[in-house]
Amino acid sequence: MEKCHKCGKPMRLVVEDYKGVVSEAYRCRKCRAVIFTEEQALAFGKKYQQKLLKEKYEKHPVKIGNSYGMLFPRELVKALNLDSKKTRLEIEMDLAKSKIEITVI
Ligand SMILES: [Zn+2]
Repeated sequence: MEKCHKCGKPMRLVVEDYKGVVSEAYRCRKCRAVIFTEEQALAFGKKYQQKLLKEKYEKHPVKIGNSYGMLFPRELVKALNLDSKKTRLEIEMDLAKSKIEITVI
């Protein structure tokens, strides 16, 4: 059970809408103070980032030397750490569906 940092009373687990994202948090029964545990804050951060991303991006393939690539929007690069040297992308194709699935590993 979480205790309120202001008045020391027990806090209640609530599920509420913060900035348009439904998230778990603890609210004090007495003074109404709201806190996120580390886990709740991380979950909220991920959901909030997800909300900022579009569901679909449509781009033309870009010629790079003899190959072709796709440019990723900046917000996608940030959300998935694509700018890290450790990030690798795994590509799977489904020719029947004209689909390319990219997994960040
Ligand atoms: Zn309180």
